[in-house]
Amino acid sequence: ITIIRGYNQAIADGTITSPDEIEKYRIMINEETIRLERLIKELLDISRLQRSEQEELQEVPLGHITNTVVDMLSVRAKNRDIRLDRNIDENCTVEGNGDRLFQLVMIFGDNAMKYSPDSSSICFSLQRNANQEAVLSISDHGCGIPQSDIPYIWERFYKVDKSHSRNVPGTGLGLAIAREIIRLHKAKVEVQSTEGQGTTFAITFPKKIE
Ligand code: ATP
Ligand code: MG
Repeated sequence: ITIIRGYNQAIADGTITSPDEIEKYRIMINEETIRLERLIKELLDISRLQRSEQEELQEVPLGHITNTVVDMLSVRAKNRDIRLDRNIDENCTVEGNGDRLFQLVMIFGDNAMKYSPDSSSICFSLQRNANQEAVLSISDHGCGIPQSDIPYIWERFYKVDKSHSRNVPGTGLGLAIAREIIRLHKAKVEVQSTEGQGTTFAITFPKKIE
């Protein structure tokens, strides 16, 4: 808000006069407005999720959803020479909310992309384990997360040390939203990470939500 107000003021009071500069400031105002809008939307989304319990359960085609997310990430991946591997049981379904599960896979996929170097690979897997529970895992070969930070990554606005994640943009709300979606689905999540080597998030869904 400070940036938006400051730049707007500079245009309004004539501090900035050249059309080129005005245009530059307008673009920055626009970008900050978009960021602010996204921030507010996500914060509202978290509080909505925190208040809600699982309403109507559907049989959700998680295999299909995961494939769709990987398809959507593939353009970004191609531009950075990142290979997206799949080990997805296309017919795997879970109980829950399809829109929320799409959002969940996208949050982990987006993080894997953001915290991976160019020319690395990311693997999306969805299979049933020995107990017939669906396990979704997203594995990257990125910067990894220090053990001491792992307990905090689910908190709102928490970001691992900036120098570590190369000033990667983002507000730090993705995993806070993911945590709520996981809770709603009575699923469990495990994180395995080694600094400099990579990270795996594995989400295990119950056979039936009681
Ligand atoms: P946003 O998701 O709001 O755009 P963000 O990605 O920074 O921002 P989260 O998704 O909540 O926020 O993740 C919190 C922090 O956890 C990240 O800032 C990053 O430091 C760390 N993190 C999450 N996923 C990974 C990963 N796959 N590899 C390395 N670090 C990760
Ligand atoms: Mg994120």
